[in-house]
Amino acid sequence: MHIFPPNDRDQEIRLKRFFIATGAHGLNLFFVFLCWAMNFLNTAIVMNYLMFVLFLNAVVFLTLRSGLNKRFADPSLTFLQISLAALPGLYVMYFAGEARGTFLLLGLAMFAFGLFRFKTRDFVFLAIVILTGYASLIALLMKFDPVGLKFKIELLQWMAFVVTLVEFSFLAGYIGDLRSKVVEKNQKLAIQNIELESALKRIGDLVVRDELTGVHNRRYLMERIREESQRSLRNNATFCIGMADIDFFKIVNDTYGHLAGDEVLRAVAQAGSACLRLTDCFGRFGGEEFVLVLSDTTLDGAMITAERVRHAVEALVFPGMSHGVTISIGVAEHVRKSDTAETLNRADAALYHAKEAGRNQCVAAPTIMEASV
Ligand code: GH3
Ligand code: MG
Ligand code: MG
Repeated sequence: MHIFPPNDRDQEIRLKRFFIATGAHGLNLFFVFLCWAMNFLNTAIVMNYLMFVLFLNAVVFLTLRSGLNKRFADPSLTFLQISLAALPGLYVMYFAGEARGTFLLLGLAMFAFGLFRFKTRDFVFLAIVILTGYASLIALLMKFDPVGLKFKIELLQWMAFVVTLVEFSFLAGYIGDLRSKVVEKNQKLAIQNIELESALKRIGDLVVRDELTGVHNRRYLMERIREESQRSLRNNATFCIGMADIDFFKIVNDTYGHLAGDEVLRAVAQAGSACLRLTDCFGRFGGEEFVLVLSDTTLDGAMITAERVRHAVEALVFPGMSHGVTISIGVAEHVRKSDTAETLNRADAALYHAKEAGRNQCVAAPTIMEASV
């Protein structure tokens, strides 16, 4: 049997608050003993008070520990706890004689606990309960034990209590307003954070993505090629560059318009990047030209991938167009220690040969030896 229910953070916090309140009860108890030591209270009253407090705290503890509190509108039971704490307080005040004022002060301290949780309505209600309790106490004393009662002082204290509680109620309202403003601000901030995050992601995308097609842009392609070239120096890995160009794209634009041309560019970009491995890179180099960066790939493997891309583009169907499009691709294997610009030029030259040879085909650039570089 644990003091706190396992895996229930909310209930744990509520129980911890309850123990803090119990601490406050302990302080009250200290004053009750003090009054007993100074002969303001007799032993029977102190024992009754002790039983009363223990009983109330046990009831609240069991309610919280069993989870019964979750059925209440405010599961923290703050209101109930403060109202219940007033009862033994009023009991002991009845018998405290001239020491009564001490418990009024302590009662006020308990009341202050509600400042941060209650709505003004709760607060006013609680104030009425406590003021009525105190007034009834004076009335009872007048009837049953009028000898020691200093009515004028009690009345003065009661009125001061009224004023204090009214002021507290205003303060509670003010704090409540502040609290809801903070909650509202926090919610706004959370939304702004989400918006900022998505804006940041968009900016990040804009840096590396081509706006029209969504595939990588020229800047990113060049960076990737530079990285691959350095990797090849480090671990002997080889990579290939494919330069692809849509065949007779000008005719598509002239016949169907620029917007249809844009649509074709998007479709080709999607089809092309879908053919590659995750470690490869497909991007738009500019206009209707695309570049493939094929990591850890020899020329033979690169030609297979290039053919796959060519077939995928050839298979595309465009609604509103009577025919599809084709692409030509020139492929070059990068040679270690050589300039990446040279590899790009070799791929471009191979592309030129593919165009010359009738388009819709892939051509491999002649390999060159590392030693000749
Ligand atoms: P080839 O087979 O020799 O490559 O012929 P081509 O018509 O594809 O070659 P050319 O370089 O003459 O034409 C490229 C066309 O691409 C010209 C240009 O209008 C078009 N183009 C370039 N960028 C875009 C773009 O962003 N959107 C559209 N719709 N067209 C573009
Ligand atoms: Mg071109
Ligand atoms: Mg072209």
